[in-house]
Formats: sequence, C-alpha cells, structure tokens
Amino acid sequence: MEQDEGGLGIRRFATWNRTLCLRLIWLLFTTSGSLWVAWHKHHNRSSTTSFWNQTEKASDSWNWKCILRLRCLAQNFISCTIGDGRKASFWFDNWTPLGPLIKYIGMEGPRSLRVPLNAKVCEVSNHDGWNIADPRSDPALDLHVYLTSIDKPSASKGQDTFDWVVDGNVCAGFSSSSTWSALRPRANAVDWYRSVWFKGATPKHAFTMWIANLDRLPTKSRLFRWGMNIDPTCGLCSLQVETRDHLLLSCDFAKFLWNAVSTRLQLSHLSFQNWEDLLSWLRIKHDRSPPTLRKLVAHSVIYAIWKQRNNLLHNNTAVLPSVIFKHIDKEIKNSITARRLKKSFKNLMSLWLH
Ligand SMILES: [Zn+2]
Repeated sequence: MEQDEGGLGIRRFATWNRTLCLRLIWLLFTTSGSLWVAWHKHHNRSSTTSFWNQTEKASDSWNWKCILRLRCLAQNFISCTIGDGRKASFWFDNWTPLGPLIKYIGMEGPRSLRVPLNAKVCEVSNHDGWNIADPRSDPALDLHVYLTSIDKPSASKGQDTFDWVVDGNVCAGFSSSSTWSALRPRANAVDWYRSVWFKGATPKHAFTMWIANLDRLPTKSRLFRWGMNIDPTCGLCSLQVETRDHLLLSCDFAKFLWNAVSTRLQLSHLSFQNWEDLLSWLRIKHDRSPPTLRKLVAHSVIYAIWKQRNNLLHNNTAVLPSVIFKHIDKEIKNSITARRLKKSFKNLMSLWLH
C-alpha cells in the first residue's frame, strides 16, 4: 500500500513537471505565433522537415528537448481559430475538429491533396473557395466535408488566434491548475488500459478502439458541437443522434452485430447501455470467452461499425449487418490463426468456432 502511494507520488511529481514543460511550450508558442513557426525559428531548417517526425539530438537545448518530448501532448491542448489564415500552418496546427491534419490524414496528405507541407491556411484558399485536390481517402473526405461547412480565411476576421483548451474549455492563457488536473494520474487509468489493449491486437483495430474509448471519434454529434453545419442524425438507423455510444453500442446496426457475437460466444443477449458497460464486459473472466477473445471481438466489431459508418457517409455504400458479421468472423479467424503460437490465443479458435 505504502509502495503504491509512493509510486503515485512519483507519478504526480512527474505530471507536475510535465505541466511546467507544457507551460514553456505555451510561452514559446504565443511568442512565436505558432508551434510550427517556433520550430522553424529555432532550427532554421529546410521547410520540408517535419516538426512532428523530428528526433531529439544530443546538441538540442534542454528547452527544445522538452518541447519535442511533449509535442503530441501539447497538440491536444492548443487550438487555433482561423482569422486571416496567415499564421496557422495548414498541416500542423490544430484548426479543425479533426486535430492536426498531418496526423489525421498522414504523411501522404501533402502529396495527395497537393498542399505543400509548409503551407499556411490562407495559401490553401482563393476567391473561388478551398484549393485542394479531390479526396482519395476517408480522412481526406472528412476534411473536404468540414471545409465546405466553414468560411474561408479573410483579412476582415483579423489574425488567427490560439487558445489553451482543457476538456473543451478555453482557458485565459495557460492554466496550470486545469492542465494538471486533466493530466494527473487517476486510479481507474489502468482499468481501462487493460480493457482496451492486449498482446496480439491488430493495430488498426486497436487504434480505432483507443480513439473510441477516449470518445474522440469525429462522430456527427461531435462535429455538430464543433460548429459544422451538418445533420447529427445517425446514418445507419436515421432515428437518433450519432454519438459514440449510440453508433457503437445501441444503434440497431450495432445491436445486430453484438447479438451475432453473443450467439457465437454462447453468451446471453448482449446489451450495452453505455461505454462503461462494454468495458466491464471486456473484463469478465469466463471459460468460454476469455478476455483476450472478448477484446479481439470487440475491437473487430467497433472497427467494422466505424468503417461502415464512413462508407455510408462518404461513399453512399450500404452493407447489411449480416454481411459485415461475415467479414468480422473471417478477420477474427485470421487473427487467431496468425497468433496461434501465443499462449493467450491457444484455445481461442475452438471457442470461437465451438
Ligand atoms: Zn443509429
């Protein structure tokens, strides 16, 4: 017990240090106007070098190492409101509900959308509208949809502004207390970590599950709250608002898949009222459906629903849930086969096929 408290104390001290470093980032950020500008001023490197992929060098100053180590964390807090679009970096600043676009669309984004890596937001629009190539991926399409819902940058709106935002609340400058409170270790942090991650997870499934667990998927209700001019109704059932819990747990489409899963696992009817219900279900130790199999199945179902939702929204392609379940079944079999030598996967095929 004492050791646990000692460990928590050390973690709290580390969190406080991180909060101080984040404050440093904010100061550098506000003096330079943008993290991306700070990076260029500091390094004076060629404009094609990516701040987000830069590795730490022994010769870097302590301050700069601190920034590099915390850049991904800082991204979550710094939000940009576009005015004239002359300061904000199109790819690196956080100016859309999708977060920094280089992370959302990926490193192939500048080439596929024909927007240079060092472009400012103002350089990507002209008097006709936004000047980007047709989307070739779902994330790029999300960006297109978002851009059609907002005004172009304009000198009449003044300069771009940056805010420190914690849990959706804009702070007046940097707030140590609310940042610390958002970062401080909580007792249940490990709880959800174990429910979400497992050895042998399929990376793309685990990533979607992780984002869903943080409730950061760009669902229609979140995009609507961000000011996008869209109908927030769920496209799969047209009955309720598309929130994470509705789309992934209680929509008829999701219910069909969870039922199909429970039949295969020889369990009683599955009905999740909220996300915590799902996390609790993942923790249950049961001979016929051990946690690894439950997590494998849940990751596949959540990934499949999110993929189908995107397909319907962006490509107008509707697929029956029974067909989706066949894909899920196949993916689960493939995952188990590929990992059959791992101890936790040893008996899973017979449990899944029974
Ligand atoms: Zn629905």
